[in-house]
Amino acid sequence: MRPVCFPLMMLTLSLAAAAPPLSAQRPCSAEANRHFDFWEGRWMVRAATGALAGHNTLSLVLGECVLQEHYTTPSGYEGKSLNIFDQTRGVWHQTWVDNQGALLQLEGGYQDDRMVMQGETVDAAGVVTINRITWSRIDGGRDRVRQVWELSADGGTVWTTSFDGTYIRLETGADWDLLIQGGTVMNGTGRPGFSADVAIVDDRIVRVSRTPLDPERASRTIDATGLVVAPGFIDLHAHLDPLLRLPGAESHVRQGVTTALGGPDGGGPWPFAEHLELAASVGVGMNVGFMVGHNTVRREVMGLENRAPTASELERMKGMVAQAMDEGAWAISTGLKYLPGAFSELDEVVALSEVAGRMGGFYTSHLREEGLGLLEGVGEALEIGKRANIPIVLTHHKVVGQPTWGASVKTLAMVDSARAAGTDAMIDQYPYTASYTGITILIPAWAMAGGTGDLLQRMEDPALADSILSGIEFNIINDRGGNDLRRVQFAIVRWDRSLEGKTLHDWAMREGLASTPETGARLVIEAVRRGGASAIFHAMSEEDVERIMAHPFTMIASDGRLTQPGEGHPHPRWYGTFPRVLGLYARDKGVISLEQAVRKMSTMPAERMGLRERGQLREGWFADVVIFDPATVADQATFEEPHQYPVGIDWVLVNGAIAVENGQYRNIRAGRVLRRGRN
Ligand SMILES: [Zn+2]
Repeated sequence: MRPVCFPLMMLTLSLAAAAPPLSAQRPCSAEANRHFDFWEGRWMVRAATGALAGHNTLSLVLGECVLQEHYTTPSGYEGKSLNIFDQTRGVWHQTWVDNQGALLQLEGGYQDDRMVMQGETVDAAGVVTINRITWSRIDGGRDRVRQVWELSADGGTVWTTSFDGTYIRLETGADWDLLIQGGTVMNGTGRPGFSADVAIVDDRIVRVSRTPLDPERASRTIDATGLVVAPGFIDLHAHLDPLLRLPGAESHVRQGVTTALGGPDGGGPWPFAEHLELAASVGVGMNVGFMVGHNTVRREVMGLENRAPTASELERMKGMVAQAMDEGAWAISTGLKYLPGAFSELDEVVALSEVAGRMGGFYTSHLREEGLGLLEGVGEALEIGKRANIPIVLTHHKVVGQPTWGASVKTLAMVDSARAAGTDAMIDQYPYTASYTGITILIPAWAMAGGTGDLLQRMEDPALADSILSGIEFNIINDRGGNDLRRVQFAIVRWDRSLEGKTLHDWAMREGLASTPETGARLVIEAVRRGGASAIFHAMSEEDVERIMAHPFTMIASDGRLTQPGEGHPHPRWYGTFPRVLGLYARDKGVISLEQAVRKMSTMPAERMGLRERGQLREGWFADVVIFDPATVADQATFEEPHQYPVGIDWVLVNGAIAVENGQYRNIRAGRVLRRGRN
């Protein structure tokens, strides 16, 4: 809160005689716009440059698109305005020039949670007094920049500007920026859908009205007749590592995802705060939060060593977890199947999780085993929740390998009884019968200690090589290999792109080898030797998938990595998770109702995160909204052709800004970096 209200000062301005006529001004080039988009992802302004003449008079020449030359404001607010330095008085002015040619010179302060500025403007027609600019809610920290700002003049003119800088001249007195009319609202709580209009101002939902609202009062309307209006989806398990390269997050946003939590499977970013700053600086297409990763922390402190930490190492790890939590982490994630998490024992994980739990975070776990050892893996996670006193999530819950199929009956019963005994356990799931990860998941963890270099070293020792190969064979037969080399499908193979989409079986055939687990084991080692690969493992049963989905404490999460067409051969969940649940599992199979599906994607994950004012379609809350067609919504990505966007996700709003418009993606970067306790 910044309750200070600064005195408002009026400044007189005049356009310099040298200013070209408005019609002759060049628009900002697409190139400059892109550059600006990179900088800000917010809006484009036509900058003013010129000489300062006199005490409080600024003579300016309308110039070309000059971008953010003076960026930091003296108040320390890293504002989103163009700032001009008044050399005469030695003060900064925040200045905007709209593309109608009107120059604004403004000073102001804060009223409640809004920044209010006041001043005068000069345009070709003479002086216009701007009586009020409502700018941003800034109480939430540096990421809380507004998407649409509004200028209202005494003359009754109102302009607003959207993220991409297109100024739209509005009728005077529009009450709402956006009105979604005639849709069926599924508000995320699971209650039955109802007909309502939804009005949005700035980044907030201001009305959810069962009686129709007057479209005349809105600057823009969306006809949602026949469509479902729901809170934007929240993805608790997202691989956001390509975020700086793919900041628009199109593959997620087009599924209706408006918030995603990165750093799963023990692999959170480090240094934590720095990573968040970086994400904020590029401008992101959806809201993102991050978890602190156990594997990351352990690797920083202990490398890939297969042993328990010393007391001082454990203290260092606890300190790192506390630091990340302090810097806004939402949870601690573990990946006990992966290195170096696989080398940690229960006490270590409990000690670190206690720290996260005390600071308000939750625990999410890629279980130590998801195949033959599944029940022990689930038991361990529940035990961690109990001993560390932390809410937990069994993430991407699944049953891997034919010998274990059906075990979801038991795992769900374990969750139920843990809940009854006071452990706050939940589940998330992606809706597919195949998993995706590095091919090394087929190799016993002990053999991987120290990394792939050490593995290949061990392969030089015939006795060790034998037991490594038989360990892999065992996993091919009983675990993720699905007892058939056809079930292991290469995804990303940097050293031989022609293998992408092909299976271990195909590779064996190509090499003239028999398609046996023994061959498979040798090829897995060969793949590691050549640089590794990721693969899709077709080793789950549909019954388990449906049983897990129907459980009342199961949420939907993608486990998807940000991607774009043409990049490798991803798991289709990267493109299709949310629409697939809505279309295939809710509508077509009736495994859950549509309202429950929406709840599992919005309110439930928001509550697990402790995310405030998101996750429900509710007055006063953030306008993260998805509008989908319940008759047509469907995933299109398949295991054969994964690079396909879903259909039926017609509109997506991120913080009130339109990111998907009638099925068309807009790279507006309206997302924010969310920090626990500060959103
Ligand atoms: Zn995982």
